[in-house]
Amino acid sequence: MLSTMQDFPLTITSIMRHGTEVAGDAGVATWTGDGVRRRTYAEVGERAARLAGALRALGVDGEQRVATFMWNSTEHLEAYLAIPSMGAVLHTLNLRLFADQLVYIANHAEDRVVLVDASLIPLFAPLLPRLDTVRHVVVVGEGDTAPLEGAGKELHDYERLLAEAPPAFDWPELDERAAAAMCYTSGTTGNPKGVVYSHRSAYLHSLSTCTGNAMALSATDTVLPVVPMFHANAWGLPYAAVMAGADLVMPGRFLQAEPLVRLIESERPTVAGAVPTIWSDVLRHAREHGSDLTSLRLVPCGGSAVPESLMRGFDEIGVRIVQAWGMTETSPLATVAHPPAGAAPDDAWRARISQGRVLAGLEVRVVGDGDTVLPNDGRAVGEVEIRGPWITGAYYRDEDPGRFHDGWLRTGDVGTLSRDGYLVLTDRAKDVIKSGGEWISSVELENHLMAHPDVVEAAVVGVPDERWQERPLASVVLREGAAATPEDLRRFLGDRIPKWQLPERWTFITEVPKTSVGKFDKKVLRRRYADGDLRVRRADGA
Ligand code: ADP
Repeated sequence: MLSTMQDFPLTITSIMRHGTEVAGDAGVATWTGDGVRRRTYAEVGERAARLAGALRALGVDGEQRVATFMWNSTEHLEAYLAIPSMGAVLHTLNLRLFADQLVYIANHAEDRVVLVDASLIPLFAPLLPRLDTVRHVVVVGEGDTAPLEGAGKELHDYERLLAEAPPAFDWPELDERAAAAMCYTSGTTGNPKGVVYSHRSAYLHSLSTCTGNAMALSATDTVLPVVPMFHANAWGLPYAAVMAGADLVMPGRFLQAEPLVRLIESERPTVAGAVPTIWSDVLRHAREHGSDLTSLRLVPCGGSAVPESLMRGFDEIGVRIVQAWGMTETSPLATVAHPPAGAAPDDAWRARISQGRVLAGLEVRVVGDGDTVLPNDGRAVGEVEIRGPWITGAYYRDEDPGRFHDGWLRTGDVGTLSRDGYLVLTDRAKDVIKSGGEWISSVELENHLMAHPDVVEAAVVGVPDERWQERPLASVVLREGAAATPEDLRRFLGDRIPKWQLPERWTFITEVPKTSVGKFDKKVLRRRYADGDLRVRRADGA
């Protein structure tokens, strides 16, 4: 074999070194509610070294798991850098999960130490006695720690630990394939499943995020991850920003429209990522108050389908939303919906409302009945499968091996793929409505309904039907004072989708139930329907 380039490992340590040395003058600001506190990346680098030293002194060794139970903040970034770089595994706990799920996850991952925001002690303390493997709790920030006492764990103060630790740490040479971080899916079906990221996967995912076909991050950017660092790594934005030497702005626990708009107006981020529900609140607020969000050059949005009306609304206030698709299992960024070069306006919109174009390094395919691979013709509908260097190859402790197929991950998402790599999702496998043998996309119906001026939110689920096996039920949230009837909405839909797909069952609700991470909770709607808890109106005419 010819001798080639150096076998230099792709690690988070390398991202940290670059960010905190070469880009040491850039930094991170965290919103406190009425202002920000700032730290340069050089300072963050020293504090990460101190944190690693302190954790080592607490006995953290090898691939032990160190968990975080924290909002997006400077200290969370320090944990993101220090824990993987010392060779341990960062485990971000999703604080929005139910108590039993959190206990299951922390015990399943065998977390040894937990870093907890002081503001979250009331939420965390009741879990603590049930966290069997946890020995140490490190409290970040000021607050009453009394509720944590009596659980048989050692309690520490983050700032004191850092002050007592040496300012430098002898970072180990790591294998790029070693575990760096883990995250559990929120478990919309069955128990949550753990995904373990390697140093290499985090590094390649960050590089990809910085490319022009993704987010084009550079040292001229200021990045605001609104998406929580405990949910799919805040879409990888923190590592990518540090790699790019971009500044970071962290929202802390202030995730409502009003403080977010204030933060955007004062810190003027250029890139901000959040799920569609957050952006629709922000849009409403910005319209009412004439807020200036134009510092944002790019708003990556995903986690669920991004309504076209939301994108158009942002276009009107001079801000560009770009849809992306991915999942905890895919690190998460897999496709990004930039339109192709020179696209006519209609084609550009078709691309923008797709889930996006597959990023270099990843491969996507759609698979039909009997695991046959379907053509990439933008028409054949099947389950989406994906593979690549930042796609998980298994769940932690090999749970659910059936989700893998010849080295591909079965995503549980259903859709089409075009010849030029654009993915269009029509549903999650479990949400597809099968009416008389034909598939109806709940997502498509929802998107069209949400484009109606009277509709704030709409969720569509399949319900049993004697004649067609399953038919769509539309649950609609109307704007205050609006009076649209099922007949009006059917007429509106009738111009956009085939007649046989129009729902005949309608219910008006005050809010669509959401999961812990803000997605429509269709399980709850199906159950309410089955229990007869919804007032359903029939409408057959158009
Ligand atoms: P879960 O919702 O199971 O906890 P994730 O938070 O990892 O898992 O979410 C991944 C799922 O979110 C994807 O499989 C897909 O169904 C959905 N999703 C993500 N982005 C989009 C998007 N742009 N459009 C539609 N669905 C999306």
